[in-house]
Amino acid sequence: MKKDHYLLLTPGPLTTTATVKEVMLKDWCTWDDEYKQIVQQIRKQLLEVAEASEEKYTAILMQGSGSFGVESVLGSVIPQSGKLLILQNGAYGKRIEEICHVLRIPYQSVIFAANEQISAETVEQHLLADPSITHVAMVHCETTTGILNPLEAVVNTIKKHHRIAIVDAMSSFGGIPIATEQLNIDFLISSANKCIQGVPGFSFIIAKQTEIEKCKGQARSLSLDLYDQWQAMQEDPGKWRFTSPTHIVRAFAQALLELEQEGGVAARYERYKNNQQILVDSMSDAGFTAYLPRALQSPIITTFIYPTHISFTFLGFYNFLKNKGFVIYPGKLSDVEVFRIGNIGDIHANDIIELCVAVAQYKGQE
Ligand SMILES: *Cc1c(COP(=O)(O)O)cnc(C)c1O
Repeated sequence: MKKDHYLLLTPGPLTTTATVKEVMLKDWCTWDDEYKQIVQQIRKQLLEVAEASEEKYTAILMQGSGSFGVESVLGSVIPQSGKLLILQNGAYGKRIEEICHVLRIPYQSVIFAANEQISAETVEQHLLADPSITHVAMVHCETTTGILNPLEAVVNTIKKHHRIAIVDAMSSFGGIPIATEQLNIDFLISSANKCIQGVPGFSFIIAKQTEIEKCKGQARSLSLDLYDQWQAMQEDPGKWRFTSPTHIVRAFAQALLELEQEGGVAARYERYKNNQQILVDSMSDAGFTAYLPRALQSPIITTFIYPTHISFTFLGFYNFLKNKGFVIYPGKLSDVEVFRIGNIGDIHANDIIELCVAVAQYKGQE
């Protein structure tokens, strides 16, 4: 345990390494070549993480948190005549709907239960029934519960029916291998402060070039115009359209280096999976039941049901653990009382073991 400060067991911002934090101590000039090369290197490395070639794909960085990236894609890539099918099984799918509502993008939602994966068969029925649907959006790992949706099956269905596939891979990208090009995903969104283990401040979009090329003049926002952002970064390579978050960009470059040093996405995936398994096993020993069955569970974040064997309040439990150096996350379900524990970030097996020792010491409210 890091004694001077708590560990963040939340799905972002998350615990970053000291080396990622240290590189933020320098200031950078946004139009200087050295800085722009850092940006270009990041864009190149992101394509590698996405398993996408530079011939067919491009990486676009966008200021703001992850939702800004989602909003920039939705607002820029769906034409006035388009219609989005939104596949939902949690709060982040719902947020896509909220964005469409505000931006007045025509949409239709398909809502699955929070403990049920998105079904490719259901998606196919909707695509067959409504030819006016042009785009489909889904969340890969729904961070609301930690459920992992069947990316390959759903994207295959979307592409079989020749629609544009938009994937919110915010909480999975860099932590779970995603073969973007092989799957033929059109737009994939993630952000700096999740599995790449950077600090919060920008999002990024892996876009198929033939699709982003069609988006000129389509945006419903100036600042979040994905096409213009891309054009600016292409024409003056590595230059952001408006002020770029320089310290965060520098930290992200370090985080990408550390991802590579760890052994890439495959190695990070193994570490997260191992963290998650230790967590569920030890929490179960301490009397806590996971909300999802193992088969649906992602290695990113785990939802636990409030225990009944002790007198439990989230705030009491939270403060108890915070005093021991661990910060956990409240739940986000309307029908079941739950809390969440994330295991992404610079979190290792020992941290999870120590957390579970602390959990086992918790005896509830007096
Ligand atoms: C974190 C997250 C987002 C973005 O949330 P922000 O708070 O805007 O960074 C979107 N989708 C998913 C699945 C997420 O986990």
